Amino acid sequence: MTLVPQTALAVCLIADGVLGSQTHDPGAGDTHGRVELEIITPATSDVIAIDTPSAGIVTTARRIITHLSAAWHHDTEFRPVPGQWCAACPVARWCPDAANTSAPTIVIDGVTIDARTGEVLSAPGGLTARAEAVTGVLAEPPADDDPTV
Ligand code: SF4
Repeated sequence: MTLVPQTALAVCLIADGVLGSQTHDPGAGDTHGRVELEIITPATSDVIAIDTPSAGIVTTARRIITHLSAAWHHDTEFRPVPGQWCAACPVARWCPDAANTSAPTIVIDGVTIDARTGEVLSAPGGLTARAEAVTGVLAEPPADDDPTV
């Protein structure tokens, strides 16, 4: 749920009875269910299932969503926040606040990561589990680069 927060959101929606309601009344739907994440590669297909009634799952999901939404949830000014992500922004050429950057980076939870190597370039608030997971994936050499093969 940390690496794919959409699954955490799905757990929260099920736990709050939002899905399956015939009355458009949040809380009227079924509060039991399962979230499935299918990971497909050219060679495999794996399904990771998360049972929402499991102990601690909903609490963990709410913590993840709260962490990810806290900064913008109370935002009433909507000021631009330029940064490394401006390099991939489709409106950067017209944006007066765009940051001048061309480095291929990824920003996860405020942690700036080199998209080519997985190196952490800055982590002013510390390294989060989600950012650490992304750096781990990027730092792994592709299977084709295995020197033992
Ligand atoms: S270029 Fe402007 S609109 Fe795009 S991400 Fe940067 S600050 Fe936001």
